[in-house]
Amino acid sequence: MFLSDKAKRLTPYVAGIQPQEEGWVKLNTNENPYPPSPKVTEALHTADITNLRLYPDGESSSLKAAIASVFAVGEENVFCANSSDEVLALAFQAFFSGKSRIITPDISYGFYPVWGEMYDVGMIFAPLRDDFSINISDYNPSNGVVIANPNAPTSLALGLADIEKIAMQNSSSVVLVDEAYIDFAQVESAVSLIGKCKNVLVVRTFSKSHSLAGLRVGYAIGSPKLIEGLRRMRDAFNSYPLDMLAQIGATAAISDTDYLKETTTRIIATRGKTTAALEAMGYKVLPSHANFIFFHAANAGALYQFLLDNKILARYWSKPRISEFIRVSIGTDEDMEVFVKCVRQFSSGEQKNP
Ligand SMILES: *Cc1c(COP(=O)(O)O)cnc(C)c1O
Repeated sequence: MFLSDKAKRLTPYVAGIQPQEEGWVKLNTNENPYPPSPKVTEALHTADITNLRLYPDGESSSLKAAIASVFAVGEENVFCANSSDEVLALAFQAFFSGKSRIITPDISYGFYPVWGEMYDVGMIFAPLRDDFSINISDYNPSNGVVIANPNAPTSLALGLADIEKIAMQNSSSVVLVDEAYIDFAQVESAVSLIGKCKNVLVVRTFSKSHSLAGLRVGYAIGSPKLIEGLRRMRDAFNSYPLDMLAQIGATAAISDTDYLKETTTRIIATRGKTTAALEAMGYKVLPSHANFIFFHAANAGALYQFLLDNKILARYWSKPRISEFIRVSIGTDEDMEVFVKCVRQFSSGEQKNP
């Protein structure tokens, strides 16, 4: 009886389980198996805690400058907030709220339909092809486009030329490109388009490739008009979105490009080994551009449960089109050996009792 009509009607997002006890091989939320850069540890250890009595810099100026420098864009092209989920929610409010024909793939990040509902957006869910690829001619005409590139949970990516075509097809509406996984991809980032395509807003996170899911930092890169739109929404919601320690930690992380390269290279190598092991058992694995793989298993629900019973957390959705697939995050080589061994056990049991 206390709830507003909106709160009653909403279907909240369901995130992967975060078990609070030890002993799990946790491969369900695409966290990075490696610790954050040692530069982050150092920066947080030497931070002046007495400054916490003050409000933080609402503009995250130092972080913004560090991001601008890494991507060779202007500071007026950067916006920072408390997670990329927050950046995306602000973008939905700033650019899509109350509009119709905002197009997104039918299989993508589960938060998009939630924000669509939350902010009264008329969403169109364009079906992916049977092989889960995006048909770019579906993205026209629209009042806005939301695409995760690489896409989740499919792990597939569009090349830069296709993103540019979508942007050109929709030059008078905002094209949100959620690049949560781009550092693991073999395709180029859309950041290079923001000068030419004023309607492209690239959204990124420190949660996956920078090993900072616990710090909650996200950012957007786009033309100054789009950044201004995000600012307006921020200042109508929470004018200090990033706490002081988050700003310090993220600034250290983005500047350590060598560490990013080293850890992503390692994860990509482990992804290759895991894919080969699954393929050797006869599973079909989608060609991944992310720090997770999405593979077909006829009995996916049972495999998910078998993994769970063996203290391995993966992700499974009993939803149309993807109910015969499992998504598994790429952990360390050791994590993935445990995972592969468990899948092998499951498949040999299946063969004995079909
Ligand atoms: C993980 C993820 C996010 C959320 O990142 P946060 O910055 O941790 O909120 C956004 N989009 C996609 C596609 C993701 O997989």
